[in-house]
Amino acid sequence: MSIVIEHMTKSFDGTSVLRGIDLTIESGELVALLGPSGSGKTTLLKIIAGLDWPDAGGLRVHGADWLHLAAQDRRIGFVFQHYALFPHMTVRDNIAFGLTVRPRAERPGKAVIAAKVNQLLEFLQIGHLGDRYPTQLSGGQRQRVALGRALAIEPTVLLLDEPFGALDAAVRRDLRAWLREVHDETGSTTIFVTHDQEEAFELADRVVVMGEGRIEQIGNADQIHDHPASPFVARFMGATI
Ligand code: ADP
Repeated sequence: MSIVIEHMTKSFDGTSVLRGIDLTIESGELVALLGPSGSGKTTLLKIIAGLDWPDAGGLRVHGADWLHLAAQDRRIGFVFQHYALFPHMTVRDNIAFGLTVRPRAERPGKAVIAAKVNQLLEFLQIGHLGDRYPTQLSGGQRQRVALGRALAIEPTVLLLDEPFGALDAAVRRDLRAWLREVHDETGSTTIFVTHDQEEAFELADRVVVMGEGRIEQIGNADQIHDHPASPFVARFMGATI
């Protein structure tokens, strides 16, 4: 599914947070939104997720007018820090959640859901944790469950906000490699937000550098490192290396 964003703007309380975003993401691409805190990355991701609304501009996903499509027709999987796992549900039930809340006519049967969850538990390498509760898991295991919940609905678009933000360096490295595998296997168009250059360049096919609500540059590691498009990009790359 391709994602086409045109002339998108958004303000909060009179302050511009997105100042005219134009961006096309090809079907199956893995793209990072990279930039300092406050540059508008999460706001853009939330709008694509349907959790927020732009002031102006268009958003088309595979030709469909995404902003006016009913939520249940969007098939988006997302992992946002503020949408944590349900603490009173087991890992299994957390992963199944997106399937069990479907309208009755579209809801798979119990056996189908159970089989799907088992398959995901294996794929996520947490097969032994299905009956635990989130508080009984490590940070890295929780992130795997959150991804499992997002993947259960077979999303055409997968959105991740600082997916490994709170984890230590070794776990981050493991999960990065693993996310790349998950992406290659599922083929879902994936956008993730990060302020970590290394993470962006190691994982993404293309990196979108944002600053103060604008896209400053789009490219791969070499293009952005060797030919920063603006003083902002040069400073940002230098400042966080
Ligand atoms: P980033 O993800 O790059 O850190 P955000 O998109 O989270 O940036 O935020 C961009 C700016 O918009 C920040 O200044 C933030 O305080 C502001 N902002 C984000 N969400 C809201 C909101 N719901 N209400 C008011 N201001 C917001």
